[in-house]
Amino acid sequence: MTDPAPHRDGNCLAGPLSEILAVEPTAAWWRCPECARSGPLAELHVYGPEPGLTARCPGCAYVALRLVREERHVWLTLGSGDGAFRFTVA
Ligand SMILES: [Zn+2]
Repeated sequence: MTDPAPHRDGNCLAGPLSEILAVEPTAAWWRCPECARSGPLAELHVYGPEPGLTARCPGCAYVALRLVREERHVWLTLGSGDGAFRFTVA
């Protein structure tokens, strides 16, 4: 596979991500790609049970994010797509 464009590696995201991951997450603004509703993350409808939580748009039930908590990791999927980020936690 050829790389179509010059790029940097993921280390360049460390600064921007450390800024957003250090703030109060419930105040984060979210916009639904399905129905265009927008509002703070705190308004999402969250379904469980833990350790797997799914947050859905209150307007159309589109999946905003999925979060799975394990003993030492948190898996985070943004939106309805596949794939997940794994964060190591204490
Ligand atoms: Zn929606």
